[in-house]
Amino acid sequence: MHTRADCLQADRQDPLAPLKQLFDLPPDVIYLDGNSLGVLPKTAAARAAQVIGQEWGNGLIRSWNTAGWFELPARLGDKLGQLIGAGQGQVVVTDTTSLNLFKALAAALRIQQQAAPQRRVIVSERDNFPTDLYMIQGMIDLLQQGYELRLIDDNLPLEQALDDSTAALLLSHVNYRTGAMYDMAAVTAQAHARGALAIWDLAHAAGAVPVDVTGANADFAVGCTYKYLNAGPGAPAYIWVAPRHTDRFWQPLSGWWGHQRPFDMTATYEPAGGIRRYLCGTQPIVSLSLVECGLDVSLAADMNEVRKKSLALGDLFIELTENRCAGHPLTLVTPREHARRGSHVSIRHPHGYAVMQALIARGVIGDYREPEVLRFGLTPLYLGYADVWDAVDVLKDVLDSEVWKQPQFSQRGAVT
Ligand SMILES: *Cc1c(COP(=O)(O)O)cnc(C)c1O
Repeated sequence: MHTRADCLQADRQDPLAPLKQLFDLPPDVIYLDGNSLGVLPKTAAARAAQVIGQEWGNGLIRSWNTAGWFELPARLGDKLGQLIGAGQGQVVVTDTTSLNLFKALAAALRIQQQAAPQRRVIVSERDNFPTDLYMIQGMIDLLQQGYELRLIDDNLPLEQALDDSTAALLLSHVNYRTGAMYDMAAVTAQAHARGALAIWDLAHAAGAVPVDVTGANADFAVGCTYKYLNAGPGAPAYIWVAPRHTDRFWQPLSGWWGHQRPFDMTATYEPAGGIRRYLCGTQPIVSLSLVECGLDVSLAADMNEVRKKSLALGDLFIELTENRCAGHPLTLVTPREHARRGSHVSIRHPHGYAVMQALIARGVIGDYREPEVLRFGLTPLYLGYADVWDAVDVLKDVLDSEVWKQPQFSQRGAVT
């Protein structure tokens, strides 16, 4: 694609192009941040009005039964499971990714305490999303049993980090900063060969790349719905547990929603059979209900087409920035190789923060991550090839004109 006309031609032939109509997007914006906060499905406003006006307003307490509120975490879990290769009854949509990480890690460590109590090391990645590392650190501090966190990085490759002391490996399938993707099946097999359990964070993967937790023989997986799954700001996350592990232990956030019969109101906890034991307390029903609007769009899309287009958009973005912004100090952070790339492209610039603010001021919305990284999410459900062309046009102009040097673009907000 060497001209904008080529891009428009590719858009006309794109089998996913009609899906864009299912979202409400503001005009004059090219949205390249669906990897951080997804966009608004057109069905969401009506669904919100229904949940608030009818189910809550009229149904009141009856809606726990009559509107299916109580079943919602498991019913949505079954829908979400189709996007990550999970079977029915294996996923619940609930709580936050951070909380679900805690549950998964606690369960994994309990399993290992029985099978191999000498295993006291949790392996993760220095460049993992911080909350993953923070939750591990909190768990270690809570347990006070001599657990330790071992981080893979340039100096410590995964094959060296895994050994007979490893209890669990916790990694993100797609790295939030670099967009690099692991081969989930190969890495899980590597962990299992060393006797470790594999926990995967799918935050930047589900809805963006094909995921098959069953095929990969993973042990636990968690992820969020507000990124590529377009479920809304702060929408509940999800947890999947391999059926071979589900009923072996309870997770320690043993609230009443995870009880076998919550409305017996007994004094003693008795975990529900199956994935329901991974619930904790009463769910945020308004927000949870809207998760379905985003899931339904993702389920309507052929994931192989999504992947094909995501890689094509990424290739185009990389090629155009390298050709048209040559001479500017841009360094590609994301792997070029298709098998190692997720659905966003990250590029370093020494003044990345200011450059991104200047782009946003021009309607090209990506985001910024320390250090110096510009992130561009390429979401095939609502982004076209001409959008990529236009975004690079603006990037070129922002760099050529040096408009990013204006002082207002260096002022930091609380959220970058
Ligand atoms: C976005 C993201 C999270 C977010 O966790 P929350 O608890 O939902 O705030 C966690 N892990 C990864 C890898 C992420 O990208």
